[in-house]
Amino acid sequence: MQLYNSLTHQKDTFRTYEPGKVRMYTCGPTVYHFAHIGNLRTYMMEDVLEKYLRYTGLDVQRIMNITDVGHLTSDGDTGDDKMLKGARREHKTVMEIAAYYTDAFFADCEKLNIKKPEHIQPATGLIGDFIHIIETLLEKGYAYEAGGNVYFDTSKLDQYYRFHDFREEDLEVGVREGVEGDENKRNKADFVLWFTKSKFDDQELKWESPWGLGYPGWHIECTGIAIRYAGEHLDLHCGGIDNVFPHHTNEIAQSEAYLGHEWCPQWFHVMHLNTTSGKMSKSKGEFLTVSLLEEKGFSPMAYRFFCMQSHYRKSLVFSWENLENAQGAYQKLLAKIRPLCAAQDAVDEAAKAALLAKFTEAMDNDLNTAQAITVIYDILKADTTAATKRACIEAIDSVLSLDLLKNAAALAEQKDAAAEIPAEVQALVEQRAAARKAKDFAAADAIRDQITALGWQIRETREGTVVTPIG
Ligand code: AMP
Ligand code: ZN
Repeated sequence: MQLYNSLTHQKDTFRTYEPGKVRMYTCGPTVYHFAHIGNLRTYMMEDVLEKYLRYTGLDVQRIMNITDVGHLTSDGDTGDDKMLKGARREHKTVMEIAAYYTDAFFADCEKLNIKKPEHIQPATGLIGDFIHIIETLLEKGYAYEAGGNVYFDTSKLDQYYRFHDFREEDLEVGVREGVEGDENKRNKADFVLWFTKSKFDDQELKWESPWGLGYPGWHIECTGIAIRYAGEHLDLHCGGIDNVFPHHTNEIAQSEAYLGHEWCPQWFHVMHLNTTSGKMSKSKGEFLTVSLLEEKGFSPMAYRFFCMQSHYRKSLVFSWENLENAQGAYQKLLAKIRPLCAAQDAVDEAAKAALLAKFTEAMDNDLNTAQAITVIYDILKADTTAATKRACIEAIDSVLSLDLLKNAAALAEQKDAAAEIPAEVQALVEQRAAARKAKDFAAADAIRDQITALGWQIRETREGTVVTPIG
C-alpha cells in the first residue's frame, strides 16, 4: 500500500517494524465538550485506514489517548485550560466533565461506525509514566527546570522541525491570537513537560512529582501512552492536520530524545472539514454535532458517505446542501443495492476477485475512498451474478462501514410496509415530517398521536422514518 507520509512529503510504501503487525496511534479527543463533525471526519478516516490495513491481512493494535488534563486553548502551552473551561461552563468537576464527554464521544463514534481502538487511555491514568519520561529527559540533558516548570529544550536537537522548515523567527510571540510569551523558556519553540506553577488558581487535578505538585503538559501524554502500549517502535501515527505543529513535532522531539532512536516512521494527517464561512468551531456559529445532524433529519451514515466521497488529504467544505446531496446519493445507492439482498444465485469467485482488485487498487493508492465508492457503482453495473455483486459490496463495506447491505435490506422492508399504509396515515406521516423540518415539535408530536390513534406506530431509524401497524 502507498500512503502519503507527512514526514517524507511523499507517498511511501507502508511498512511495519514487526512483520504482519501494525502498532497504530491516534491522538484522541480533549473531552471538555462534544466532538464536532470535523473532529469526527478525522476519526472516521483513521477508522477506514485501520480497517483497510486489517483487510490486507495485517494485525492492527490501535491506541488512543483521552485528553483529560493539560490541554490549553492554544496548543503552544498558553491560554485557558480546556478542561477547566468545560467544568466552569457546566458547574461540574473536571472528572465529571471528562466522564460525560468521553461517553458522548464514543456514542458518536458508534453512530458513525467508528470502531473502538484496542487501547483507550485517559491521560490522568498514566501520570507515573509521564514523570518517568520527564526524569529521563532531564537526566539526558534534554529538559530543564525554570520558574517551577519543566521544559523540553529544543536547541538540544539537531533537527526539531521535522514536518516543515519552520524557522524560529517565524514563531514570533504574539503572532497568533491568544499566544503569550513565557519568559521561562530558553528558546521560543521549547515546550512544557510539567507544570507546577499553574496560572490557574483553581487547577483541580494535581499530582506529586520530583518538581512539586503539578500536572503534565499536553504533548507528553501521547508519548507516554504510545510507548506504554506499543513499546519503543510505533508504525503509524495519526491525527488531524492541525496536530502537525506543535503537537506532533513535540511528540517526536521528546520521544526520540527519550528512546535514543527513531520512533515512528509513518505519519498520517487528515485535512480539515470547514464550513462555508471557514474554520469549524465549538464556540462560534452553529456547533455541528452528530446529534444536530440527526435532529435535522440526516442519518449518521449519510455523513459517513459524505466524508468517504472525498479524499482525506483534501479539505472538505460542509454545508447542509452538500450533506443533503450526499444523503440523496446514499439513498439512491441503497435502492440500487436492494435487489441484491435476496440474491439466490452463486458467487462467481473469479469475477469477485477481479472486481475487488479494483477496490484494493483504489485503497492502495493513498486510501482513495472516493475511488472506492466509484468501484461500488462499477460493481453494480458489472456483468456478473447478483450474489457476486453482493459479496463484493459486503467485502468493501467491511472497510468503508456504510451499512450498505443492512440499510438496503431495511429499505426493502420499509418499501413493502409502505405499500400497505392507508392514504390517511400516509398523509399524516408527511405532515409530521414537514412539522419536524420546521422544528415545530409540538405539532409533530400531536400528529404522531393521531397516527397512533389510527393503529399505526411511527419510528425514527438510521434509515429514516418507519411506519408499521401496532400489534
Ligand atoms: P481535539 O479534541 O481538539 O484534540 O481534536 C480531536 C481531533 O480532531 C484532532 O485529531 C484534530 O486534529 C482533529 N480536528 C480538529 N478540527 C478539525 C476539523 N475541522 N476537521 C477535521 N479534523 C479536525
Ligand atoms: Zn497526541
